[in-house]
Amino acid sequence: MINIPKGTKDMLPNESYKWNYIKNKAREIARKYNIKEISTPVFEHTELFVRGVGNSSDIVNKEMYTFLDKGERSITLKPEGTAGAVRSFIENSMFNEPMPIKMFYFTPCYRYEKPQAGRLREHHQFGVELFGATGTRADAEILMIATDFYKSLGLTPKVVLNNLGCVECRKNYVQKLKEYFSPQINEMCEDCKNRLKTNPLRILDCKVEDCKKIINGAPKISTCLCDDCKNNFNNLLSVLNSLKINYEINETLVRGLDYYTNLVFEFWDDDGINKAALGGGGRYDNLVEELGGKSTPVVGFGIGLERLIMYMESKNIVFEQDKRLDCYIVSMIDDDVMILNIAKNLRDNGISCETDLVNRSVKSQFKYANKINAKFTIILGEDELKNNSVKLKNMDSGEEIFVNLEDLVNKIKEN
Ligand SMILES: [Zn+2]
Ligand SMILES: [Zn+2]
Repeated sequence: MINIPKGTKDMLPNESYKWNYIKNKAREIARKYNIKEISTPVFEHTELFVRGVGNSSDIVNKEMYTFLDKGERSITLKPEGTAGAVRSFIENSMFNEPMPIKMFYFTPCYRYEKPQAGRLREHHQFGVELFGATGTRADAEILMIATDFYKSLGLTPKVVLNNLGCVECRKNYVQKLKEYFSPQINEMCEDCKNRLKTNPLRILDCKVEDCKKIINGAPKISTCLCDDCKNNFNNLLSVLNSLKINYEINETLVRGLDYYTNLVFEFWDDDGINKAALGGGGRYDNLVEELGGKSTPVVGFGIGLERLIMYMESKNIVFEQDKRLDCYIVSMIDDDVMILNIAKNLRDNGISCETDLVNRSVKSQFKYANKINAKFTIILGEDELKNNSVKLKNMDSGEEIFVNLEDLVNKIKEN
């Protein structure tokens, strides 16, 4: 037997209703905000992620699925959803269209990391990107989209926010961090030592206990913000208050990617049981330019679907089932033409039905109809068919009636 690769998971037919439920909710939210769907390839040129996600990120350094294709091109399976959307925005000259451009996607993402609960080497994301708008209203709207989505699933995670400042603020802050960490860097982990050289901001992300103690005393970004950055952030907070969006500021939140400017955020379990963020995002106003496009601000988020499903299961949230099967045809006769034409007529009229394909006895056909939860069974018996009629059984009430074949579709649709 050949097994599934480590860190991946099948979506099985008997679980697909959970995915459908979540995706339908996401599409419904997208419709309300007038966001259109985009789909980009699973693989891109490696350079896109090296330049987009950033050289100093763990993703690019350690976690990418990169290989040479048969034409000797370096190709990478996308580790996140944003870079591909931005590449497409630039390549298709969307910056020439009226702004904002809003798009959403469902995409698989690939990261070579140690598999653990809720962290897979292939996972799927629901993401939204909003191009061409800066300011409070766009920031608030992106947070509203995400919180509305969670709410539609019966969840109210807390929004954890931070403001990383504009390019100028960042420069000052990074300088302060260097001055603070340099004298004590030998007491910190190897990753932090590297981060001090490549991207000191990411030291704040370190989960090693000894590092955390030092990080706690580090200067706060809020002490380095210029007036514009300060005012914009305060503005956003007052809007979030008025919208009753539950948030908390966390000044060590930097997120693992290099491309963020100003706003970053994550969504966390409101009761603190879940030990990982349910999703996150922020603003990346320099990313389009960095990838060769005309300077365009972007704000967006991504939400991992596997982790979301796990979380919903842990909260005993009921996933709506797919639509129930309308009817199952129980056949007491052996007449392929008759059976398949009745089935065809039902399906042509929009009614879902199944018929026996594996030669079950009549008794086990009934059992099976029960098991698959069909609303009706249609019983084809020799005598009835002579009079052009069949027996229709309502599987919930047990009620049975004789129905003329011509009336079958209407009778089922009546119920
Ligand atoms: Zn600033
Ligand atoms: Zn560290």
